[in-house]
Amino acid sequence: QNETTDVPEQARHEWAELVEQINDHQFAYYVRNAPTVSDADYDTLLRRLEALEQEHPTLRVPESPTQRVGGTFSTEFAPVDHLERMLSLDNVFDETELREWLARAQREAGGDIHFLCELKIDGLAINLLYEDGALVRAATRGDGSTGEDITLNARTIEGIPHRLNATGDVAVPKVVEIRGEVFLPVEAFEQLNADLVEQGKPPYANPRNTASGSLRQKDPRVTASRPLRMLVHGIGHREGLTIERQSRAYELLRAWGLPVTDTAKVVSSPDEVIAFVDYYGDHRHDVEHELDGIVIKIDEVPAQRALGNTSRAPRWAIAYKYPPQEVNTKLLDIRVNV
Ligand code: NAD
Repeated sequence: QNETTDVPEQARHEWAELVEQINDHQFAYYVRNAPTVSDADYDTLLRRLEALEQEHPTLRVPESPTQRVGGTFSTEFAPVDHLERMLSLDNVFDETELREWLARAQREAGGDIHFLCELKIDGLAINLLYEDGALVRAATRGDGSTGEDITLNARTIEGIPHRLNATGDVAVPKVVEIRGEVFLPVEAFEQLNADLVEQGKPPYANPRNTASGSLRQKDPRVTASRPLRMLVHGIGHREGLTIERQSRAYELLRAWGLPVTDTAKVVSSPDEVIAFVDYYGDHRHDVEHELDGIVIKIDEVPAQRALGNTSRAPRWAIAYKYPPQEVNTKLLDIRVNV
């Protein structure tokens, strides 16, 4: 018997329509690098879907976009399985929701915890696999389990070490997955667009999609011609390495020669988290990359483990999303092939 028969026809119909729309938008965004709606409109659709599933929980099936990471699409890149799943992040959209999340995190972690506040880089996630200190594979996030093999392209990015430094006080693990974000600095994006306009060509829509299009190129020489950068924000699978604090992981990553942000801050109270969020709300444009929010992570790794993950996101981290500053009305100008 189908449990969803308890759900009114109208709700089932709305659910199916929303899922179809969201899947189409995901394809345009993740595969074609050419979104057909603004991020704010996309987030609104996803929130509506979440609300509908809250009201009718039997609609919350594993295939729902609320339960998945990104999308599952076959692309022209070779598929590669991550050793540890890559997750997305849950979102909050205002201070009240953020304070609720922080209070719940403190309660559920059951003790004194610290919050690691970081900028949410508006780029695309990358997974770097190092074996015996050497970069052996780079992949996009894909559906979280399987991504696209972009090793040759990643090797052209300045700042992605081909070999990790073994000089730090903690040895580089024999096998380690490093998670980071590839982005195009705002200044480089503006220069690229100025050059295109001068050549009478249409400019690109935004740095995020340009970065994604630049990284997911069949010809690595095209990737190499774009001044892409990367900042790391996590470790996936690792062998023989125990870390007690996320902030400590960043120190190790830096010592191994990986680019780590210098804006991350460990704080101990919700008020300090809000102060960090407010500060960067006012200074969004002082940062070299676009940021669409702030990521707050519980710093203590044992508490992270205790809270665990949902099917799509860790329970020990949250993304606070800033309200959109301007809605891009020039979406139709986006070039599909970058
Ligand atoms: P997300 O981008 O909101 O958050 C998860 C990702 O944030 C992680 O995978 C990680 O790569 C990245 N990240 C950046 N900085 C980080 C940091 N400091 N620490 C940890 N992670 C960090 O999630 P998502 O599932 O990739 O996609 C949703 C986003 O993409 C939304 O903003 C949505 O609006 C946009 N989107 C838009 C469309 C569209 O059609 N316009 C379609 C799909 C998705």
